[in-house]
Amino acid sequence: MPRLTRRTALALPIGLLAACAGREGVTAAPSAAGPLLEIAPAAATAAGGFSQGGLALGRVPPGSRVTLDGRPVRVGPDGRFAIGFGRDADADARLAVTAPDGRSEIRALAVLKREWQVQRINGLPQAMVSPDARQLARINRERARIAEIRKLDSDMPHFAEGFIWPAQGRISGVFGSQRILNGEPRTPHFGLDIAAPTGTPVKAMGGGRVVLADDLYFTGNTVMVDHGRGVVSLYAHLSRMDVQSDEAVARGQVLGAIGATGRATGPHLHLGLHWLATPLDPQPLLPAA
Ligand SMILES: [Zn+2]
Repeated sequence: MPRLTRRTALALPIGLLAACAGREGVTAAPSAAGPLLEIAPAAATAAGGFSQGGLALGRVPPGSRVTLDGRPVRVGPDGRFAIGFGRDADADARLAVTAPDGRSEIRALAVLKREWQVQRINGLPQAMVSPDARQLARINRERARIAEIRKLDSDMPHFAEGFIWPAQGRISGVFGSQRILNGEPRTPHFGLDIAAPTGTPVKAMGGGRVVLADDLYFTGNTVMVDHGRGVVSLYAHLSRMDVQSDEAVARGQVLGAIGATGRATGPHLHLGLHWLATPLDPQPLLPAA
């Protein structure tokens, strides 16, 4: 299959993108006579298309097979699915659908490139920047546990129901920043930081099920909520946790409170959002302030 070059994908007319990305498109079920594939960004972007760090929602006839760049995407019993584009996603993605009646379609999606900030953070305890062997063993155990959680692909419908701000406060860190900790380049910042006083309530950005509520090395008191179809939110550095693993939560339910546990220079919420193992930018999915 010929691969679109970056240049070609960027040159796709915006009008064509808009036609693929009608925001009402995902509400009606495709019928035999209707479109095979409906796919739209979960959040309106400046250019109206798909973008790096973005979540997209789709719908196909139930029982269809869907792949994104050749990798299978699980489709819910209602035909709904989610896909996400990483921070460094290529400019072109290829979504392929085969319906139970044999119809098939391949859709080229143009993924807009974003500019990422550089964030320098100094004054962190050196043990947090360069952990020793014993700490590394703990960190690796926790990473493996989270990697397992990121394989969850449940049938809960909440990923498509919209999200709310989990806390009120000042945005003190954005998604995708290249981080330089105590002068050393580190992995990018895969979350949104909201600074507010310790004790400020932290709410679930969407409904779902708590899949982790524990004290972790880097993220301190951490709650993760599964919203379905691989979409999982993460709330870090909490001063307290009000929920337990396996608990069902409603959108807006208090999960705990803002704190500075784990690797944090001051009280803030680190909000993470993933589609399976792919980190996404939560901010475009939240209502305009
Ligand atoms: Zn953060």
